[in-house]
Amino acid sequence: MKSRSAIIIGSGVAGIAAAIRLAVQDFSVTVYEKNSYPGGKLSLKEKDGFRFDAGPSLFTDPAELEELFNYAGEPIDEYISYSKVECGCKYFFANGKIFHSWADREKLLAAFAEKLNEPAETVTAYLHQAEKLYQSIGAVFLNHPLQKRSTWFQRPFLKALKDVRPYMIYDTLNEYHESKFKTGEAIQIFNRFATYNGSSPYSAPAMLSTIPHTELNGGVYYPKGGMISITNALYRLAVKKGVQFVFNASADRIICVENKARGIVINGENIFADLVISNADICFTYQKLLDDDRTARKMEKREKSSSALVFYWGIGKQFPQLQLHNIFFSSEYKAEFESLFKTKTVYKDPTIYINITSKMEGSHAPAGKENWFVMVNAPSGNSNWEEATTYVKQQILKKLRGMLKEDVEPHIETEMILDPPAIEANTGAAGGAIYGTSSNSKAGAFWRHPNFSKEISGLYFCGGTVHPGGGIPLCLKSAKIVGELIQYAKDFH
Ligand SMILES: Cc1cc2nc3c(=O)[nH]c(=O)nc-3n(C[C@H](O)[C@H](O)[C@H](O)COP(=O)(O)OP(=O)(O)OC[C@H]3O[C@@H](n4cnc5c(N)ncnc54)[C@H](O)[C@@H]3O)c2cc1C
Repeated sequence: MKSRSAIIIGSGVAGIAAAIRLAVQDFSVTVYEKNSYPGGKLSLKEKDGFRFDAGPSLFTDPAELEELFNYAGEPIDEYISYSKVECGCKYFFANGKIFHSWADREKLLAAFAEKLNEPAETVTAYLHQAEKLYQSIGAVFLNHPLQKRSTWFQRPFLKALKDVRPYMIYDTLNEYHESKFKTGEAIQIFNRFATYNGSSPYSAPAMLSTIPHTELNGGVYYPKGGMISITNALYRLAVKKGVQFVFNASADRIICVENKARGIVINGENIFADLVISNADICFTYQKLLDDDRTARKMEKREKSSSALVFYWGIGKQFPQLQLHNIFFSSEYKAEFESLFKTKTVYKDPTIYINITSKMEGSHAPAGKENWFVMVNAPSGNSNWEEATTYVKQQILKKLRGMLKEDVEPHIETEMILDPPAIEANTGAAGGAIYGTSSNSKAGAFWRHPNFSKEISGLYFCGGTVHPGGGIPLCLKSAKIVGELIQYAKDFH
């Protein structure tokens, strides 16, 4: 019988990772998940012989996953296998230009020079700077609890602070890229990385130029079996380490007595533990689980990240001109982000992302067919999507017809749709915002909600809506920070 117990609300990637870490620390850990399956946003959809990754489709920085397995003392290759993909993304521009983001550095630089007229030296210098920034500032800020005073007096932190330059905070990502690149296409490619945390390159600070480092220096990976293999591997590891999962179990409230988290309430039943970790959306956690309207209202005032509108299409033929990851850019990128964050609509000419895992594994679609995950950025917070979805679908089809020189619509054999309200319903993401708050302001970019409660001891937070941010690698980091806070806590704080 273990002497310490922990409850985790939610089995998103961070929730499961935190569960593993606490189990390794010899806690008795139970994860309560409102859905009937683990993974939250990182789950699977199947229809008519086609299978689709429900949410995330881009896998970068596998070192985070490797570190977790290493921490748990389990060989990762017995749980999951993945490999670097040759082409990270195929970009289609409105002016007809096509660009492959090759993993091979020489091929990538040659493509920038030959296809986009962007000198190899410029791209090399940019990527070198992005790596430097990531190693010196990014790594320190992303791996530690910023809101702990002790963090700020550690030597690497003081060194990282010295490396911060005014442009990283005061210039927007787009301004930074305009100062580096001469072609609109290269600027658009690099600007797009702001969407990796649901932000606009025209508002988010230049510090976000650390994001391309992960993909363009580190590479894009494909997990065998699709992204769901990541959830499956984490779940198997957690079970192996003794974590208990209770599905179809929605936490109604976190029990706090004398400013100490004591457990949760589910269906009127009190379940007690020494500490509680919420992997649910942080707004939801304050509003519903802590019944703290004042803090919830404060959080609601912060601009939310973008959401997504996803069409899962079973396509009745193969398109050899497409790859695993494809982007069809909008001709007016700035107007697209104004639409998303100011008028709160999907832009009439949206940038379209298409992910096709059957390019890697034919078994993901019936023979001779393809599984298309078609996503456009969408504003978070709107509730009425029926009309907008019909309109956006027609805009997507029109754009693809023009750019692929082929009508896709007659080949759509089956369809499922995920809109922002469905993202909220499935995973509790407030307003369907994929990454919690946006990084469109300096405060939003550098200061997310901490991984612990300052008021309630024994209460911790992990996942994409808290520090250090959204996306699989950062969610895994949030679980690591929580694990370390608990490991070195005197009184679970
Ligand atoms: C369409 C889409 C595309 C994306 N693309 C990418 C990508 O390509 N690459 C990438 O790295 N990231 C991507 N992301 C982001 C990534 O999916 C998330 O950042 C990450 O999966 C979030 O994990 P999490 O740990 O925060 O938990 P979540 O996935 O948010 O899960 C939270 C869990 O908590 C549960 N829960 C909530 N409330 C309760 C309650 N009261 N009781 C019990 N359980 C509760 C939910 O049911 C859910 O299972 C994408 C997301 C979406 C939606």
